[in-house]
Amino acid sequence: MGIASYGLSIVEPASPGSVLSLIRSGEATTRNELAEQLGIARSTVVQRLGVLSAAGLVKQAGDAQSSGGRPASIFAFDEDAGLVVVGDLGQTGCHLAVCDLGARPLAEHTASLSIDKGPEAVLEWVKARLSELLDDLDRDWSDVLGVGIGLPGPVDFDTGRPVSPPAMPGWDGADVPSIFTDTTDCPVLVDNDARIMALGEHFAARANNPHMIFVKIGSGIGAGLIANGRILRGERGAAGDIGHVVVEPNAAEICSCGNVGCLDAVAGGWAIARRMGDIAPTPPDVVRLAREGHPEATSQVRRSGRLVGAAVADAVNLLNPTAVVIGGKLAEADEQVFAAVREVVYRKATPVASRHLEIALTELGHMAGVIGAAHMVIEHVLAPERVGDLLDRRSAGPVH
Ligand SMILES: [Zn+2]
Repeated sequence: MGIASYGLSIVEPASPGSVLSLIRSGEATTRNELAEQLGIARSTVVQRLGVLSAAGLVKQAGDAQSSGGRPASIFAFDEDAGLVVVGDLGQTGCHLAVCDLGARPLAEHTASLSIDKGPEAVLEWVKARLSELLDDLDRDWSDVLGVGIGLPGPVDFDTGRPVSPPAMPGWDGADVPSIFTDTTDCPVLVDNDARIMALGEHFAARANNPHMIFVKIGSGIGAGLIANGRILRGERGAAGDIGHVVVEPNAAEICSCGNVGCLDAVAGGWAIARRMGDIAPTPPDVVRLAREGHPEATSQVRRSGRLVGAAVADAVNLLNPTAVVIGGKLAEADEQVFAAVREVVYRKATPVASRHLEIALTELGHMAGVIGAAHMVIEHVLAPERVGDLLDRRSAGPVH
């Protein structure tokens, strides 16, 4: 037997993690169903359920209808068994939340933020605000099972480090998870902001869209890709970086990546703010004016919508998704932005790729990022092969 057989990916059908996984998905919720589906003895199921119940992860949720004899107890995952804390960080704003294990936000905080203050200042601030949110709920870090952070640039998911992010000075290679080690020993996961939004939209609103492109139009422009129901990260975390698709090769603007005419450099919130000068010096000013119907601001954001549409049409031809979902503050500022994206995509994408394509505004709105980050963490810590670690930590630490 090779050593790889002992790797984490080998999950015992009889492990508590496998039992929990079936209960969470609803595929099996009674002792008999669990024993049957896992092909293990009923007595083993009873023992595993005992371990999971003692750790607070599983609870009894009533009885199944029975045609005779004793009704079978139904088991359910207890979404109150712990918390995840998450931060959706953009270039100029952030949204923080404490969520239960069903990815429901229990406490939230939104604030403006300058990502260019660098990783230490930004993340220490984020950590302090998350501690305050836990305080507000009368909870603390010992209740937290995992941390999820979204950042506006390419991120190497395996290490949690940003990779040459053009719009985040000082963040290249920063060890984001290490900032949290003095506070918690639970997993800290870091991913791109548009990617966590794509995850949120997928899990919470569009589980039936196996192939999806989520486009965030904000201070910068990025995209998260879902293929075959799975998030696509690419070799170094740069998949979906639609902001650096060249849409205006003759543009005057040089992009932060060094190229000319990137989507981000001609259509992102910062690009518009630079063009508008003193009238709207930052992306939040652009959003505010567009909301108020300011003629130049609305004309600029709609122009951005058309340029985004051109880049998205290419992505649609490449990936043939079932849905394109548009989000981000610039898109939410004026409904005509979405209309412009939609019009250009249907006009420019090939008929075969666009025939059954749905183009929609995000259903989760500004919640997409934190809900997606919560799902990212929950799916990670409750993956069957990691439930054993979680049970070890629960028996070692305080149990609530
Ligand atoms: Zn660029």
